Amino acid sequence: MTENAKDRQVGKNAFCTFCMGAFDPARIGAHIRRCRDRVDDAECIQTGGSPHPMAFILMMTVEEHPDAWLVLEAHGEARFSHLDRFIRREWFPDSAEPGQFVRPRAKEDSKDGKASEPDLQVRLENALSVKDRLCYRTRRSKQTIETRLEVIGYLPTAIMHRPVDVAAFPLHGRLAPRHPFHIPEGVVL
Ligand SMILES: [Zn+2]
Repeated sequence: MTENAKDRQVGKNAFCTFCMGAFDPARIGAHIRRCRDRVDDAECIQTGGSPHPMAFILMMTVEEHPDAWLVLEAHGEARFSHLDRFIRREWFPDSAEPGQFVRPRAKEDSKDGKASEPDLQVRLENALSVKDRLCYRTRRSKQTIETRLEVIGYLPTAIMHRPVDVAAFPLHGRLAPRHPFHIPEGVVL
């Protein structure tokens, strides 16, 4: 039995955009890292002799809303501004202003009490490592929404011509009637 077939047996509502399979949401991050179709897509990418571009696999979640999650693939060379625009377009289309990426407070930051905030022009590969956690804050209707981002992988990319894309999304989330990964207006987070 292939890895993909094993994953498929346990659940049904986390959709992988590479193999079009439905999986257990609790295992979707692990699946994306090893999805055979994703690996095949990555292997098809021609680099003309230059090193294969790498990408981060990012798990997006919203605290206390288990139905609101998304797995993204983002090129290492992409900037935080690409990630910001992508997240706003998919989840917060009515937020005109850039969101804010905030790291959990690091020890060296504790003297002045400030959390570290990556500049939007910084490339992801210069700021992120696997297992890093970030908070993404955006405002909508006078409400600040905090989305958590965890770096769950760093792999040869399978998406060549776009800096960020969706790797997996919830199929039947009650928070997603209009778009598979859109949190509709009116839902209090
Ligand atoms: Zn897959």
